[in-house]
Amino acid sequence: MSVLPLVIAPDPRLAVCSGEVEEVNDEIRQLLDDMVDTMRHEDGVGLAAVQVGVHKRILVMEIDDQVYHVINPEIIESSEEENIYDEGCLSFPGQRASVTRPKRVKVKFLDYDGKEQILECDELMATCIQHEIDHLNGVVFIDHVSKMKHDMVMNKMKKIKKKLRPAT
Ligand SMILES: [Zn+2]
Repeated sequence: MSVLPLVIAPDPRLAVCSGEVEEVNDEIRQLLDDMVDTMRHEDGVGLAAVQVGVHKRILVMEIDDQVYHVINPEIIESSEEENIYDEGCLSFPGQRASVTRPKRVKVKFLDYDGKEQILECDELMATCIQHEIDHLNGVVFIDHVSKMKHDMVMNKMKKIKKKLRPAT
């Protein structure tokens, strides 16, 4: 178990579409465990593999003390009713934006043991799983807001990242 380094925006890796997992094996389970460690270390509710630089369709969530290991997720139903949530992202430290998404979604995926599961999500979990599935498609939360807000957040991130970069 280990905490992995996060990919921080702006970074071209966050715009890459991740590939399907072909087999849920020990290597994948190791990655899932490390992703949960990383998410907890960073105090997040969700994390996609792309955020630790791995382009596989994998995400983890921890909501109401329950951990979800989600592989190859597919949204099979979305409600017409929408929800606005003030979202943040571990790849955008300190940044928030109000994003409108379907209030409820039904998601099909493979679990930690490679078994197919269907999860009905609403409220925070629905927002979280849609945010993470977006990551697997190379989409980030500020892609859903106005260009002005998007550019404002990106400019802030450029400055933040400059400070994060170790002086060499
Ligand atoms: Zn995110």
